[in-house]
Amino acid sequence: MSAAAKRKKLVLCVIDALAPAMLERAVAAGAAPMLEHLIKNGQYVAGCVAAFPSVTPVCAASIITGVSADRHHIPGMNWYLREEERYVEYGSSLRSAQRFGIARQLTDTVYNLNRAHLSAQTPTVFEELDDAGVRTAGTTYLMYRGRHRHDPQRDTALTRVAAALMRHPVLGPRELFYADIFASRSTGCRSGLGMPGVRDRHSGCVSVYLVENDLFDFLLLSLPDNDWYSHKYGPDAQMHSIAQADLQLARVFAAAGGIEEFLADHAMIVLADHSQVPVTNAIALQDELSELGVLGPARTPRRSREQEPRIAVCPSQRAAMVYALHEAERDAMRASAAARSLGIDGIAHVMWLARDAHDRPSEAIVQTPERDELRFAPGGEVRDARGLEWSLEGELGVIGARVEDGLISTPDYPDALERVWSALTSPSAGELLLSASEGYEFMDWGRQAHVGGGSHGSLHASDSLGALVLCGVEPPARERTQWSIRDVAPLVLEHFGVGHQATLA
Ligand SMILES: [Zn+2]
Repeated sequence: MSAAAKRKKLVLCVIDALAPAMLERAVAAGAAPMLEHLIKNGQYVAGCVAAFPSVTPVCAASIITGVSADRHHIPGMNWYLREEERYVEYGSSLRSAQRFGIARQLTDTVYNLNRAHLSAQTPTVFEELDDAGVRTAGTTYLMYRGRHRHDPQRDTALTRVAAALMRHPVLGPRELFYADIFASRSTGCRSGLGMPGVRDRHSGCVSVYLVENDLFDFLLLSLPDNDWYSHKYGPDAQMHSIAQADLQLARVFAAAGGIEEFLADHAMIVLADHSQVPVTNAIALQDELSELGVLGPARTPRRSREQEPRIAVCPSQRAAMVYALHEAERDAMRASAAARSLGIDGIAHVMWLARDAHDRPSEAIVQTPERDELRFAPGGEVRDARGLEWSLEGELGVIGARVEDGLISTPDYPDALERVWSALTSPSAGELLLSASEGYEFMDWGRQAHVGGGSHGSLHASDSLGALVLCGVEPPARERTQWSIRDVAPLVLEHFGVGHQATLA
């Protein structure tokens, strides 16, 4: 028997916003017996670092590619696409989607996110496994780009309603189930238009079918409802939604005869893309910066007394970006927006890049409202927990950093240097990046925020450290001082003996 034939199948289960403290509480209460079994028989990491901004599209792109936004090019939940002079909105809220146009938002999320926005130079884990002949499969997840063509479903409510919109084929994993839009098999599972609260059930239903019919070697099983529930009711309410996610896992395991039987020929990785924190206040950045001339969503007719737009404002939950619309005044607008942002309640960090004479990024600048400043750049005498080298100048306290024996630690803002640098140097990022302080969230373009509930997006540890459980992954995962969601794609590829092109490039 070849090595490949003996290798276990692998399920990567992304439980959106799975907060370590809440997972631990659910397990202690006996509410998550499947996750408890995986933790007891595997390796549990309570602090796997998200991407930055720690919002789902950016994190999903990092999970699926193993790289940061500087290379995958997905910079936020909402961003400004310079080439097309327009906002991109992936669905901060229904009201926000309405402001930009539902058709536009759906097209950006379903098609453009994977096809036009995600860098073509950065292969996904599906693409690399497809190239190696591994049988891939995925349930509804923001990121699905693979090598197999799928035509949209013609016979469902959603596709009848949006027939004109959802008529294009996509390239996905071998087996793709995406809401009711794409389904490579007739499973009898219905996603109920992909509405929150029923999406986990659809993923569970499809996965049962895939297990029963032995249709994958690698399955990305997405359970997104925990994030929705936690946004609405606050992170403490995750007890309920984690228990619901656990029930879907139980269903999938039962399809193989039970969890023991399932684990006999499947490895499992359970991963949070980010965590969540309670929200008590909203920041209306659009209003705060209005005197600079803010570009409105496409559907807002500009009133004649309003200023000519000179900046784009892009709220991404607990992070935000500001773009200068005119190249000639880029630095001046960035400086004006930075100065104003530092005076807004609820902003913890204001970040931007300095550039050299060739317009290449020379250093990142991070400022706090107290006007403390840290400047840093790659290459130097200081190493971070993941072995990258940096040079720093200014106040280490800006990111709560300590340097000992040439090693920098930033426990309050994990993996801060790499995350800020990659966020700022992403070609699609704005000139200015903002991170909110505890309890604050940026209001989206539909004027919605999760006040009274939960959210995420900031650089802080409480948004950024999610749960990670590894069970039966071969080769056994090496001990690391700092796990990142970027480590998962290479781990999956290594499990199947496939080289990671993105890392080697
Ligand atoms: Zn979320």
